[in-house]
Amino acid sequence: MKIGILGGGQLARMLALAGIPLGCEFSIFSPDREACAAPLGRFVCSDYRDEKALMELGASSDVIAFEFENIPVQAVAFLGPHLPVRPGAEALRLAQDRVLEKTLFTELGIPCATFFPVDSLEDLHRAAASTGLPAVLKARRQGYDGRGQTLIRQSDELAGAWQRLGGQPAILESLVDFDREISVIAVRAVSGETAFYPLSENTHHHGILRLAVSQPHDPMQAQAEIYARRLLDRLDYVGVLALELFQAGDHLLANEYAPRVHNSGHWTMEGAATSQFENHLRAIMGLPLGSTALRGVAATMNLIGTVPDKARILGIPNTCLHLYGKACKPGRKLGHVTVCADSMKQLQQILSDLSGLLSSEAVSAVAETGHYQN
Ligand code: ATP
Ligand code: MG
Ligand code: MG
Repeated sequence: MKIGILGGGQLARMLALAGIPLGCEFSIFSPDREACAAPLGRFVCSDYRDEKALMELGASSDVIAFEFENIPVQAVAFLGPHLPVRPGAEALRLAQDRVLEKTLFTELGIPCATFFPVDSLEDLHRAAASTGLPAVLKARRQGYDGRGQTLIRQSDELAGAWQRLGGQPAILESLVDFDREISVIAVRAVSGETAFYPLSENTHHHGILRLAVSQPHDPMQAQAEIYARRLLDRLDYVGVLALELFQAGDHLLANEYAPRVHNSGHWTMEGAATSQFENHLRAIMGLPLGSTALRGVAATMNLIGTVPDKARILGIPNTCLHLYGKACKPGRKLGHVTVCADSMKQLQQILSDLSGLLSSEAVSAVAETGHYQN
């Protein structure tokens, strides 16, 4: 089957790496000449608004996928009448706008932080009076890896925070005092069949995911699945979806969903019977889903900004290295290491050995939660 992917980053690259053994052929569509997925298929280097290039992609594909939620929704809507685009434009449209996304959560009875749309400094003052402070001001659109977000602790910080956003539409959210961050990676087939991976427990540093750990029998698994299923069914979703959640006490609050494979699910590459990438492809191709069972316990440690010596990483038992072929740049996700183990004790030992190889900035991150606490 021929698969066209909008977006050419590491998620497209790992989708292609999972699809080649299934006999898939890929076209990678990206405006970025340096797209790291380009070597994995036929590369179309073009702007997302170029209808001629999009038509060509459609003509040479059986199904279209996307790997990033900030792809212009118009590109997906343009292709939709010509061939299956999975998941569809609606899942993308709602995920692109934090106000629409949180409104959807609320409609589906999925709890989330109190939020208000903010279009002016006056709105921001009114919103802060309702949420109370501290609160988080985020750009409504285009954010990722914690970009475009400011923690506001006191009311004299409101004007500066608003100014930093440059007047773009925003959302103010109450700051969730969470115990931990988790995500559930879900997958839904064309038939409506649904499967869930064991939860990932996620640690961020400066807004970027550093570490995701999965172990069986998480006490919040059932509740997370209930919420994710509501989204999947409402969106008549096909493919992998990740729902990011905060746990506070024994309650879950949704943070955001990603209509795609997700960084917190990279451990599934070696740690699950079927990886999230293969299951996304199986779903969008109309094939049966594979088992989401976890093998022992597993983790993903991201390599951000720099890559430590390969031989030293691979010298640690039970590690698998995935480099994305991207140029080094501070704050950039360059690769990850998957770790699989028989017990949490063994996993923690390996993670601690790995941390020893990372830069001091990355090491301090391993034990932290939430970038606003720094
Ligand atoms: P991603 O790369 O996951 O798409 P993003 O830029 O869309 O990131 P969020 O996921 O909204 O941003 O926020 C990044 C991180 O900031 C969260 O994982 C969490 O640690 C923290 N955070 C965001 N919103 C809140 C909140 N309302 N209360 C507490 N912490 C928050
Ligand atoms: Mg996001
Ligand atoms: Mg997030």
